[in-house]
Amino acid sequence: MKATRHTLILAGAGHAHLVAVRGWIDNGYRPPKGTILLSPDSHAWYSGMMPGLVAGRFTEEECAIELAPLCKACGVELMIGEIATLNAVSRKLKLLDKRELEYDYLSLNVGSVPPQPSLNDGSINVAPAKPFAAFNNHWQAWRGHNDSIQIAVLGGGAAAFELALALHQILPQAQLSLICSGDLLDGYSLGLRKRASKILYKRGIDLRKGTRVDCIAGGWLLSNKQRIQSPDALVIATGAAPQPWQSTSGLSCDNSGFVRVRATLQSESHPEVLATGDCASQPGAFHSGVYAVRQGAVLSEIIPALLAGRTLREYQPQPRSLALLSTADGSALLDYQHFSLGGRLIGLWKDYLDLGFMKHHRLD
Ligand SMILES: Cc1cc2nc3c(=O)[nH]c(=O)nc-3n(C[C@H](O)[C@H](O)[C@H](O)COP(=O)(O)OP(=O)(O)OC[C@H]3O[C@@H](n4cnc5c(N)ncnc54)[C@H](O)[C@@H]3O)c2cc1C
Repeated sequence: MKATRHTLILAGAGHAHLVAVRGWIDNGYRPPKGTILLSPDSHAWYSGMMPGLVAGRFTEEECAIELAPLCKACGVELMIGEIATLNAVSRKLKLLDKRELEYDYLSLNVGSVPPQPSLNDGSINVAPAKPFAAFNNHWQAWRGHNDSIQIAVLGGGAAAFELALALHQILPQAQLSLICSGDLLDGYSLGLRKRASKILYKRGIDLRKGTRVDCIAGGWLLSNKQRIQSPDALVIATGAAPQPWQSTSGLSCDNSGFVRVRATLQSESHPEVLATGDCASQPGAFHSGVYAVRQGAVLSEIIPALLAGRTLREYQPQPRSLALLSTADGSALLDYQHFSLGGRLIGLWKDYLDLGFMKHHRLD
């Protein structure tokens, strides 16, 4: 199959590309003819609302943005497809369906996947929290008609905490446990961690800290060869691991396999490649939607400047960010530096921000 050549490929419809494309629509910039947005999905899902979707507080339509109208409005072709390999030396992408694409410039915003236990014999229904569309189908399928199942959620960060509460909200008969390898919500203020533990306790969600599940075998979760639990289903929300093809691409990657980028969001080894969001590694930038969105705003200026050979703006990660964690009942927890708050008003504010983001980026 002959490869098609493109001046610019935007790979992945993550938060950063969504913000960049919307920025171009607003400011009138049009990328070169033949530019494509490559995405496995016809929609971009907004992570901040995923726990609300699971909890039954939002519909799928509210949580996902249709890509076709956005692409059409700024003259970008939407191509449905998924990268299988990237060769940064020959500037070629191979897709899972065997199509091949060549690029002059490539912008990667392909997100991450949660790391999974290294051994898994398939004896437990597993639903990784990402990709979102697959997760949504997945957990609803194993939920079936049995609402009193036993579910374990792996992970100790905000996503795992929010998903455990969301599952409890929608399946009050289910027996839920949250299993984390370290402490719950490590890195957040002590106040927030106390509030979070209290909420889990009140809702009867079993919290098991300091337990790294490294194997799934014979229907059991095992940690260091010890049997921990035998749930009917397992949700994996253990943070961010890179797409496996990044580390074999020839791009300079950090020890985990995330693409190392400079302040201009260009690959350290291949300046014609940009990377943003979870797939990138930049000192001071965390793998979270908040940072991806900020990078997207800068990327919308960097790409036109790079193509025109102008000086590039730099992205400086903000030293701290506000965290808003949904507690699935319409309330939320707020964390900023050493300060924490919780309640219904915070929940209303989070919904206002999330729905406002969707309204601004939606074009259907
Ligand atoms: C349940 C949950 C809740 C979260 N809530 C929050 C929150 O409230 N606030 C926050 O800041 N962060 C949150 N996060 C983290 C957040 O999801 C990520 O940090 C954020 O999505 C990263 O955005 P991104 O721009 O890197 O890409 P993403 O938004 O993850 O999107 C990546 C895109 O790349 C596409 N893609 C993947 N593989 C390929 C491939 N091989 N080829 C082509 N395209 C591909 C995907 O289909 C997707 O469209 C949450 C995470 C989870 C799991």
